Amino acid sequence: MIDRSESESRKLLGRLRDTMAEQAAGQERLDKIVHLTADSIGSEVCSIYLFRDSDTLELCATEGLKKEAVHQTRMKLGEGLVGRVARTGKMMNTADAPSERGFRYMPETGEEVFSSFLGLPIQRLGEKLGVLVVQTKAKREFTSDEIYALEVIAMVLAEMAELGAFIGEGAALKARHTEPRLLRGLSGQEGTTEGHAWLHEPRVVVTNLVSDDPERERRRLDKAIEKLRVSVDEMLTGTSGEQLEVLETYRMFANSKGWRRRMEEDIDLGLSAEAAVEKEQSNARARMSQVTDQYLRERLHDLDDLSNRLLRLLTGQGAETGAEMPADPILIARNIGPGELLDYGRKLKGIVLEEGSVGSHAAVVARALAIPLVIQAERITTEALNGDHIMVDGDQGMVHLRPDDSIVSAFRDKIAMQAQAQERYSSIRDKPAVSTCGKRVHLYMNAGLLADLPSLISSGAEGVGLFRTELQFLIRNKMPKRTELVEVYKRVMDSAGDKPVIFRTLDIGSDKVLPYMKPNDEPNPALGWRAIRVGLDKPGVMRMQIQALLRASGGRALTVMFPFVAQYEEFTAARAEVGKALAIERKLGHPVPETVTIGTMLETPSLAYAPTKFFEDVAFISIGGNDLKQFFFAADRENERVRRRYDTLNVSFLSFLENIVMRCSDTQTPLSFCGEDAGRPIEAVCLAAIGLRRLSMRPASIGPVKSLIMRTDLDGLYDVICEARARGEQSVRDDVMGFLRTQG
Ligand code: PEP
Ligand code: MG
Repeated sequence: MIDRSESESRKLLGRLRDTMAEQAAGQERLDKIVHLTADSIGSEVCSIYLFRDSDTLELCATEGLKKEAVHQTRMKLGEGLVGRVARTGKMMNTADAPSERGFRYMPETGEEVFSSFLGLPIQRLGEKLGVLVVQTKAKREFTSDEIYALEVIAMVLAEMAELGAFIGEGAALKARHTEPRLLRGLSGQEGTTEGHAWLHEPRVVVTNLVSDDPERERRRLDKAIEKLRVSVDEMLTGTSGEQLEVLETYRMFANSKGWRRRMEEDIDLGLSAEAAVEKEQSNARARMSQVTDQYLRERLHDLDDLSNRLLRLLTGQGAETGAEMPADPILIARNIGPGELLDYGRKLKGIVLEEGSVGSHAAVVARALAIPLVIQAERITTEALNGDHIMVDGDQGMVHLRPDDSIVSAFRDKIAMQAQAQERYSSIRDKPAVSTCGKRVHLYMNAGLLADLPSLISSGAEGVGLFRTELQFLIRNKMPKRTELVEVYKRVMDSAGDKPVIFRTLDIGSDKVLPYMKPNDEPNPALGWRAIRVGLDKPGVMRMQIQALLRASGGRALTVMFPFVAQYEEFTAARAEVGKALAIERKLGHPVPETVTIGTMLETPSLAYAPTKFFEDVAFISIGGNDLKQFFFAADRENERVRRRYDTLNVSFLSFLENIVMRCSDTQTPLSFCGEDAGRPIEAVCLAAIGLRRLSMRPASIGPVKSLIMRTDLDGLYDVICEARARGEQSVRDDVMGFLRTQG
């Protein structure tokens, strides 16, 4: 029997290390390991089961069970006790295995004579690789010291597997990171692309797993933790907001006695300092996959990050590994900040994130750069190696890692078809969007970053229908200065030349939280203190921004609109702020814009029913369909469960929009639509059919939308919509699709 703090375990680990150093085939090593382990634990059986595919485990080596069963005995994930350990990722310790629920007897192994069973998952950084089992005839539960020692062995096995120690014949002993993988995530930005993996945070490779000098390893760990603490403290000075919270958590972990004690105990058992850190990291990852609470998950992520930092300190492997970025890089990261993504810029061919959300800042930047993005691609950072061939389907949210030939050729066909479509779109780039019935539709682009500006030319947009000014605030880690904003706005106006740009004032709150502003703990942020509500209650930032816009115009015409206005008075109050700022500028003798046109977004149903006076008074209205739709249907636009539940072509919504069109037409108020639906060709032609003739969308959508408008009879389409509505359809989509199929 093994003792937790005894040199026995160190001896065993030392012998495992020796098997690693020997020139031997994978099978030979596995055989030796089960023999050594059974011997030092004093159990009659020790077996190693490894995955042959994501769903099947295979007995790969055994001491004590019948040798004929090796590579023959297989079980599905969840099947029998071994399958259960693999599925749950949790250890199982029982004195009487046959009486356990789900026990399955494998006759070819001869295991019927063994009563006690201890199974431990072999997993690395949250990835399940197999199961380590020890069994004895005597009915007894294994002690906590034995379990602890075996956990360490399971961890070393996982690391050895990662380093390729068990490569051999058959699917269960195949080399890791060589098989094709299909990972399913969500679409963050459409487009298909092909390239080679570039890991934003290259993995630290730990090669010295075992050490027989615990004193030395403890000292190394001490030193590294001390360095880590100092660096976290340094980072803490001058940080605020969300980042501060993360760093405080880092500090808490760096000072955590429990964390350190567990690593020291692992070192005493014979692990090297880095292997001990990685064991803790693996545990955190395994817990992460089971925790659903968002806060806890984030803390486990923090621990994961901290472990990475500690590993870098211990191994001396920095983020800079000397590897050369491929010519066609597909960026792989767990998550990435907007600033870092902008640093990579357009050289990226695609982006795959393990986390992220549709509304995240990284997604915003990816869209601006028109780089296909897949988010929530589970396990991509552990599966992919630098240089792996990858095909990214941003339309479907799928990633083919190391694809086989049939996938490659099907995927290349898809890319070629998209390229052909792009060619078609560029041939109509400079043509006006006129329907077959002669209706002219004006197409503008949405923007928010300087990186968007080249698209003004390449997309054929007639101007910027929505410039989301908050993006400049979101991508920084501190509040931008007025002079910086003046520069940005100037560059936007310069690039637009004669084309109009509608600047929307700061729209923060809800999903757009500035990292450097005190977060508001609101029960329902989407209905909370956001956008113009913040601007009117705490006008400092809005005033600074308006001043920056006035100065940037340098005498040119300026167009401004306010986000999230819910009633007439909010509009007049915000407009008065512009008036005040203008008066100040005049007084200071600064040049003021030749005209200032002030409009508003319509994003709340209440504004659609504002008094007629409002419609007469406002210079223009732009419908923010994303927010308007979420409030109209009471369905959160950020919530994957409900956000696609209601069709934009639902007759209630279309009738509501048509009512706005009619009110604006009565008062001659210019009206546009700038939500995401404007960029979806089917939705866009329907919006145009009900009278929305100015649409603002992502630059990449302009070609497809224009192409469909030019092939559609909008009058005929309007009749189809009215007929479906009169018949009592819930959505007009089917009728619309039927009609569009008859168009050229
Ligand atoms: C909208 O709500 O439709 C809109 C354009 O604004 P944002 O998506 O920035 O909230
Ligand atoms: Mg909005």
